Amino acid sequence: MRSRGLRGAAVVAGLSVLVCAPPAFAAPGDPGGPRYSAGAPSVGDPYFPSEGNGGYDVRHYDVVFSYDPATKRMDATTTITAVATQDLDRFDLDFRGPEIGSLTVGKHPASFRREGQELVVTPRPKLKNGERFTVQVKYAGTPPVITDPDDSIEGWVPTDDGAFVPGEPQGSPAWLPGNDHPTDKATFTFHATVPEGITVVGNGQLLSQTTTGGRTTFVWDSTEPMATYLATVTLGRFQVARSVTPSGVPVYTAVDPQLASQSAATVARIPDIVEYFSSLFGPYPFASTGAIIDKAPDVGYALESQTKPIFSSAPSLGTMAHELAHQWFGDSVSLKRWSDIWLNEGFATYAQWLWTEHNGGATAQQTFDSASNYGRAATSSFWQTVLTDPGPVDMFGNVPYNRGAMTLHALRGKIGDAAFFTLLKDWATTHKYGNATTADFVAAAQSASGKDLKGFFDVWLYQKGKPATW
Ligand code: ZN
Repeated sequence: MRSRGLRGAAVVAGLSVLVCAPPAFAAPGDPGGPRYSAGAPSVGDPYFPSEGNGGYDVRHYDVVFSYDPATKRMDATTTITAVATQDLDRFDLDFRGPEIGSLTVGKHPASFRREGQELVVTPRPKLKNGERFTVQVKYAGTPPVITDPDDSIEGWVPTDDGAFVPGEPQGSPAWLPGNDHPTDKATFTFHATVPEGITVVGNGQLLSQTTTGGRTTFVWDSTEPMATYLATVTLGRFQVARSVTPSGVPVYTAVDPQLASQSAATVARIPDIVEYFSSLFGPYPFASTGAIIDKAPDVGYALESQTKPIFSSAPSLGTMAHELAHQWFGDSVSLKRWSDIWLNEGFATYAQWLWTEHNGGATAQQTFDSASNYGRAATSSFWQTVLTDPGPVDMFGNVPYNRGAMTLHALRGKIGDAAFFTLLKDWATTHKYGNATTADFVAAAQSASGKDLKGFFDVWLYQKGKPATW
């Protein structure tokens, strides 16, 4: 799909050079003057080489759209507010959505072209390092379903009454142009208009819900920094309920009526789970919590979308605990690169073990020892992957989840409960709303324990094979 506006925009850009030439004291090429170049087309994450872009830092996404489940048509205007981190004569967004009608940078139409998931934008006037700018993209059509390296699906997944919208690890560009890598977090506002009777559930807090002429507009405000893959605007027919956790965090739940009775007992425990994890990991990091439970059988997994995890079927209590634990580990503290996925999945899985024990089920030690964990034979393929590099096909497989959780449990045994739980709390506090790596965690564990843990982490994180001693 090629840009129809290219020729017109080039004329405008040519004119703007004539009428506002850059000041003579800072002409391009002068020492100290701007040195314009193209922002990088990727952040260089080997698992998803097209994800993310360089040259700017997104601060806010404002997404205004209407969607009709009957026609599957979206009409959208996304406005991105960003700050240039270099002098830019060109930059990329990640976008795999429908046809673009217009694109402006600030007040000026900009030329653009699309190459795979790269949306290449040529802003005129050019952008100076440190400059705050807006990009407004208008697009319309049917957003795509995206297939992952492991053949699972994400992006914009139509359901019988709306759409299920998961974005990990590369789904958000299906419906949202942006900088699709967890290292560029931003705040988000969604204004979504749908036929009356449909509910749109986004991240953050519901600012308003207004119905006129048979259409309802929902405004959702996500007030803490969020990675693009955690954005959702899942929509359909939902039973909505509100409550509050014992600490006062507002809870908003949306449940597909067909799953209401199967989900009720699990949904009722959300306040307890959030409260328990707050006691272990420190205060819940966001302004609200909740859950979205929908029927999307072709998706088949749940996702920790920020403030409101989404479930493609009625969740078990363990899965609910897992996704809520991700609010601390994954959402607030995020990865710097996808190969460190165990920092998300291992932590959420271990939190799930802790919840299960707290709730009167198997102890964490029993789960560690079980046949699907440490009980697996040394010859099992389970042990033949390096935990810190599972690869894009197996990043949501058994290894990051279960060996990740086992690593934490083994660490707890090694350094003792006091140091271990201080470490988890400090980890959530130090990197709140930020990004961290395995090396950061190893360093934090060493300093929390005062121990040399090189041998320990070697066998658990960096080597293949079933650890025998540590
Ligand atoms: Zn998870």
